[in-house]
Amino acid sequence: MKRWNGWGDVDTDYPLPPSALDYLTNRLGHLDPQPDTAKETVLATIPESRLPAHPLVDTSAEVRLTHARGQSTRDWVDLRHGRVGIFPDGVAFPETDEDVRNLLKYAREAGASLIPYGGGTSVVGHITPCSSDAPVLTLSLEKMTHLLNLDETSRLATFQAGVAGPQLETQLKAHGYTLGHFPQSFEYSTLGGWIVTRSSGQQSYRYGKIEQLFAGGSMETPRGRLEMKPVPASAAGPDVREMVLGSEGRLGVITQAQVRVRRVPEAEAFLGVFFPSWEQGSDAVRKIVQNEIPVSMLRLSNPLETETTLILSGKSWIGLADRGLRTIGYGDTRCLLVVGVTGSRRSFGRTRREVAALCRKFGGLFVGTVVGHAWEKNRFLAPYLRNTLWECGVAIDTLETALPWSQVREASLAIPQAIVEAMEKHNEQVLAFTHLSHVYRDGASVYTTFLFRRTADPDEFLAHWQDMKQNATRILQGFGGTISHQHGVGTDHVPYLPAEKGALGMDALRAVCKSFDPDGMMNPGKLF
Ligand SMILES: Cc1cc2nc3c(=O)[nH]c(=O)nc-3n(C[C@H](O)[C@H](O)[C@H](O)COP(=O)(O)OP(=O)(O)OC[C@H]3O[C@@H](n4cnc5c(N)ncnc54)[C@H](O)[C@@H]3O)c2cc1C
Repeated sequence: MKRWNGWGDVDTDYPLPPSALDYLTNRLGHLDPQPDTAKETVLATIPESRLPAHPLVDTSAEVRLTHARGQSTRDWVDLRHGRVGIFPDGVAFPETDEDVRNLLKYAREAGASLIPYGGGTSVVGHITPCSSDAPVLTLSLEKMTHLLNLDETSRLATFQAGVAGPQLETQLKAHGYTLGHFPQSFEYSTLGGWIVTRSSGQQSYRYGKIEQLFAGGSMETPRGRLEMKPVPASAAGPDVREMVLGSEGRLGVITQAQVRVRRVPEAEAFLGVFFPSWEQGSDAVRKIVQNEIPVSMLRLSNPLETETTLILSGKSWIGLADRGLRTIGYGDTRCLLVVGVTGSRRSFGRTRREVAALCRKFGGLFVGTVVGHAWEKNRFLAPYLRNTLWECGVAIDTLETALPWSQVREASLAIPQAIVEAMEKHNEQVLAFTHLSHVYRDGASVYTTFLFRRTADPDEFLAHWQDMKQNATRILQGFGGTISHQHGVGTDHVPYLPAEKGALGMDALRAVCKSFDPDGMMNPGKLF
């Protein structure tokens, strides 16, 4: 069973070793865990549903609560402090495209707005209902999870769009294929959600962002059904598929999607490399990409992320390894790179040798597969740490951008610094660090994680969070970075979008939404 006010399955935990708690207390100050509001208390605040009865719509308080919020910081505050306030009036569970069509008609006739709901893993407020007089219908795709067709000649798989990561990979693996899309939210996030948020998986360097994997599909909209043919390329004017990518539920409900799949690789390993400094590490990563060495993943942590990751892992060999590394010159400024090597058995050895040779030129020290294996083992477990931290009195959030290589080095120092400075005004400390992942020939995504103390007053806590977010976003926009490389806009990034798209660009986006959804019933308040 899924947690109603946190991440993941209730039976899975990510405990913190006592040494990690000491480290956090030293870094952030005294921690003051706050009790959560009980579920029964929140359930008792849910008002009567304003929707008429429908056989596919569940209006029970329990279901309305568990679909009321996603995973953003604001969502967590609402749930944990019992201040949800706005709930969907009902949650629909269609099984077919025809059900979705009928539910769109039902919502229109009821004067309701409609929020498509995939896995509910949005971290920027995509599925949070906005305050309005209209009733809200949340439409969950959790019953639409089937592999409908596998065209092995074209390597195209057609899925119902509600399929979550593990369901999708299991169905493909039975035929020897993989999509290779592994966001950290893999356990719950869905194909439809990935497409409309322009998601990126951890091995996007090999498999591509979802934009490259999405070949076509069907979307039910208030104006009717949109079919997108899975052509490999087209010069027939602007591509409608591009309008659907990143549409965040504003145009309609994707019911089916065709994706480009590959054979399951013969060999895969994740290797650890330490660099003496961030400069050497980031130069090595850029060279690997620009020399087109076919790795599947590159994730370079800055010195503070390297230190924090090693300490929070609580592994007994860390102390010994630390002393060893320091003696040979990999001290406080060391950076850890995790490199994924994936492919045929023949290409695997060659790629591994090429990466090793290149990293050595930049002072890289190969430490084999131990660190990489630990990363791989925890890759989908790490989000559970957020529950543990929160319950210890520490909040964690992330922000991500992408910039050209010429800006990457400076921006990756300035963004965490902007977060630290925002908290200095509140006399609070924050642990802010960065990694590079999702690298491209022309640039990289800079991903910043920040940990800070929870305060007893949720408004004060949100004011701290807001200041960090605003300061960091102002800085990254100053470097010419995008406001989001992979998480999307939702509600949290709405204020920053016009600066990225420009007035004319915003008008064009609004016009596209209006042509699919003239009455503005689809996921209002998101994107703009
Ligand atoms: C712990 C954690 C780790 C994460 N790691 C990553 C990561 O590595 N990479 C990454 O890209 N993102 C990541 N995310 C963010 C999130 O998982 C992605 O944005 C994901 O694509 C959302 O998918 P979902 O199915 O959960 O969509 P939801 O959260 O349910 O919805 C997101 C948006 O998509 C719309 N939507 C959903 N399904 C459909 C549909 N079928 N048709 C039309 N609209 C639809 C919703 O209306 C909403 O606007 C992470 C989130 C968490 C909590």
